[in-house]
Amino acid sequence: MTLFDHHIHSDRSDGRVSLEDRAKSVAIRPHGVSDHYPWPSGMQDDDGILRYIDAASRLGLQVGIEYDLGVARPLLSSTQKALDYVIGSVHQVTLDTRIDYSPAGAFLKGRGGTSFSEARRFGDPELQRKILEQHLQLVRIGILHRGIDIVGHPTFSPLAALGDPEDAYPVEWQEQLIALCVENGVAIEINEAYGVPHRAFLVRAHMRGARFAVGSDTHFELVGLEKTDAMIQAAGIAPDERGRFLDGKRTRQEGAPTVTSS
Ligand SMILES: [Zn+2]
Ligand SMILES: [Zn+2]
Repeated sequence: MTLFDHHIHSDRSDGRVSLEDRAKSVAIRPHGVSDHYPWPSGMQDDDGILRYIDAASRLGLQVGIEYDLGVARPLLSSTQKALDYVIGSVHQVTLDTRIDYSPAGAFLKGRGGTSFSEARRFGDPELQRKILEQHLQLVRIGILHRGIDIVGHPTFSPLAALGDPEDAYPVEWQEQLIALCVENGVAIEINEAYGVPHRAFLVRAHMRGARFAVGSDTHFELVGLEKTDAMIQAAGIAPDERGRFLDGKRTRQEGAPTVTSS
């Protein structure tokens, strides 16, 4: 089954490919673009997002953003409506200090050598508990108050780089995240770049009736979705369940919470 790829970066944030070239690769496989918001050299406010939408949609692309949960300011509802979809992702949490997820990300993407350099630090159960709590809270705000359509790489955090995610993420935490998505019609992303979520999480989400969204999260040329396909298959999601997957458009009901501050 050819599934729509929602999560693709361009040189409007940290991707290396122009919007023009992204528009060409739609012929290979259906995909949109979803650059980071906010981004120092890119989108910084609603006007910046509207200019991005204009440039990308003019090229025939479906247009989303990757909304940085806990960092980005709320969007105006008119901006929200102008986007085809919004991916909400956690890239950091703030406890006593800022916990940046990028070293774990580099490791999960195979760029950090054979062992995770911060494994010892993030092996601390108390730190894990705090990260999980804050991460879930950011996702909750994203879903209940920011109107996101997709939770990007839902189980990506330094904990995912420790080895067994089923061990690092308590089942209750997984179930809470899944329930938030299911109750609000928000899709769970299956992320090719990080290879998350893990099989047991996807099996649980599938059982609870979740919706899914494919995201290669590529910053370079269009990549295959071999890992994603294998993850879908391993989770027991059948080819005839295409309807569970988002198709480049938001599906949250009209009246779903959009922009309220919290
Ligand atoms: Zn991300
Ligand atoms: Zn991304």
